[in-house]
This record gives sequence, structure tokens and C-alpha cells, in this order.
Amino acid sequence: MLSLKKLDRLFAKYNINPAEDQFLAMLHEAARLKAEVTVPEVEWTPEEMQDALHGKKPLFASRFIHVPREEFLRVFAAIRAVADESIPSGDPCLNIPEPEAFFTQDTLDALAKYPDALWDRIEEAGMDLTLAELYFVPVTAFAMRVFLDDAATEASRAFDRMVPDTVHFKRSITCPVCGTRASMAAVGATQNRGNVKRLYCACCGADWQFERIRCAVCGDEATSELQYVHLEGDDKHRLHVCSACDSTVATVFGAESEDFDPEFESWRCAELMVAYAQTRGQAQKDASKAGNA
Ligand SMILES: [Zn+2]
Ligand SMILES: [Zn+2]
Repeated sequence: MLSLKKLDRLFAKYNINPAEDQFLAMLHEAARLKAEVTVPEVEWTPEEMQDALHGKKPLFASRFIHVPREEFLRVFAAIRAVADESIPSGDPCLNIPEPEAFFTQDTLDALAKYPDALWDRIEEAGMDLTLAELYFVPVTAFAMRVFLDDAATEASRAFDRMVPDTVHFKRSITCPVCGTRASMAAVGATQNRGNVKRLYCACCGADWQFERIRCAVCGDEATSELQYVHLEGDDKHRLHVCSACDSTVATVFGAESEDFDPEFESWRCAELMVAYAQTRGQAQKDASKAGNA
């Protein structure tokens, strides 16, 4: 859940000025804007909740939240402004469509139903996907999140209440609320059940329980194909590496802490991800050299 209070506490604790980092600036602004928007409440039937929990149909696909266009455009402009200001050169990545033309009510409905629909809409608008990924997609995602966050958080707690501790079933790989892929995982100590892993969705803000030893991308459960890597001296931030599908999922340990914030912690995994990508790149180069020799 986006919490301005918690973020401000964390930025103070780590002596960070969010205005100097594009991701943190947008995150902070989204958390601030959440208090300003009014979102009509949506209620799902017990059947819709069950279907979502078991990965059959995400909640938003059954019933989505109405995102009012005027209010969305205002939120989008505010997040865009802080994103632009956070770039030291003062040269924001332009080349984005006119928000008024792009975000029709039909597009907003499509995004509220399934946030990944953004990719299709971007392609339809003839935008460069790689460029869009750098700027337009994150600004849009944070703007949508402002409207979806409360409902997704509430639904996540309702899912938790639906499942007694003793019941085990295969958990959904995609977000039970909005249907997109998890952005990260976290492991936290619990009172009666030891360490529990949860996946987090950056699109809507939902989180849900997941198997500890299972790839969050392909669902593989072979212990031999899954491993954790981390930087020396920091075993709180790790990457769960799956050799079956060649993916990595940022996984944070210590989710039981009061100071745990999924977005902030995923930002703190960036250094590890860069280091891992470099090691992988070097290993591939060495392998191809050996192959050519
Ligand atoms: Zn979601
Ligand atoms: Zn995998």
C-alpha cells in the first residue's frame, strides 16, 4: 500500500531526497496524490473473490474501478511534473503522446480492467516501445496506481482472511487483483508459520502469499533450478534466480519489519540487479569465447 507517512519516515532514516531520483519522486508523489482522489468503491462477490484467489480470473477483470478521466489527467500531469524535475539536466524524455488524446475514457477503462493493456495501446498509438518503457509507462503506471491502490490493498487482506493457515493450494503466479506479473517478492517471519513469502504487484499494489521454493515467473518448483544470489554484506536484498526460465525476481528478506515498503525495497535492489546483469553478461562472453576457441 502506498503510504506517504512511511515513505517520509524511510527517506529521513536513509537520508534520501526523493526529488533527486525519478522513481522515488514519482513514488512519493503518487502516495501524496492518493489522499486527493476520490475513487468509487467496488465490491466483488464471494465467487469472484474465489476465482481471483485461485488464479482463474483477476478481480478487475470481473469488475473494474472507474477512473474518472479529468481526475486521471490531473494526477498524470502531477506525476509527470515531478518526474521531469528529478532529471538533473532538466531535459525530460519527451516524445510522448498528448495525454488528452491518448487517455480516452475507453483506454482508462481498459487499463483499469487489465493494466498490461497499456502495451497494446502504446503500439496502436505508434509509439516506440523501448522509449515508452523509460518514461511514459512508469508515469502512467504510477498515475493508475493512485486510483487502484486502496481497493487492491483491501482485496489482498480479504484474500488472507479467506485462507486458513492449514490450507495449501497452488498460488496464482499473476496478480489475483489485476492480472499482471508480480514485480517483486518478500519473505517475512510470522508468529506461527515460520517464514512466509509474498509476491507484490506494482501495478495495483496487491500482495499475495506464494510458495517459498517456486519460481514466480514460470512456476518451476525444482530446488536444483532455483537459487538466491546477493551482494556481499547484504543478504536482505536477494535475487531469486531460476535456471528453468532464466529469470530473476528481486526478493527482500525482513518483510515483518515495520519499515518494510515493497516499492522502496525494490528500488534498493537496483544495485544488486545491475551487478548480477554484469556478471551474467561477462559469463556469457567468456562462454562464447570458449566456444569459439
Ligand atoms: Zn495487481
Ligand atoms: Zn522460472
